[in-house]
Amino acid sequence: MPSRGEAAQSDPDWMQLALAQASLAAQAGEVPVGAVIVKQGQLVGIGHNSPIGNHDPCAHAEILAIRAAGQYLGNYRLTECELFATLEPCAMCAGAIQHARIKRLVFGASDAKTGACGSVVDLFAEPKLNHHTMVVAGVMASESARLLADFFADRRLQKSRIHKANHNENDPDQSCSAAA
Ligand SMILES: [Zn+2]
Repeated sequence: MPSRGEAAQSDPDWMQLALAQASLAAQAGEVPVGAVIVKQGQLVGIGHNSPIGNHDPCAHAEILAIRAAGQYLGNYRLTECELFATLEPCAMCAGAIQHARIKRLVFGASDAKTGACGSVVDLFAEPKLNHHTMVVAGVMASESARLLADFFADRRLQKSRIHKANHNENDPDQSCSAAA
């Protein structure tokens, strides 16, 4: 039970699996966010962020994990389930988490741009919404943030290389020396 010590002790273990999912997203050129869903100590769903590859703006890690868990459990309600996400869920995912009746949400890094668990808005603190998911923030937050920082640093480096390559192509001196 989440109120006792056992579940809390295994949070970093499950987050490690979510981080592995985030790495898969990075390898595919997607912003590295991963999620896993656990029911009573058993893994029931995984997902990694893939909106670009799937041509689907809704293909966030949490949504894909929720869909996978629903299929696996044969149920559209994911009661007694815990969702571990490497990054603070956005409003879309927070809504899906509530629709799914997820019992407990654990996330890593906060997201100052789109976080819907307190950073931008807090959809879990809205008393008028009838389902209440327990939220735990900051589990392995630095590992999650490092993955994101490395990803964006790599992307900036690649962009600057492309920019330099294009610049050299248009440089007549470079063209002459290449021709000679
Ligand atoms: Zn989302």
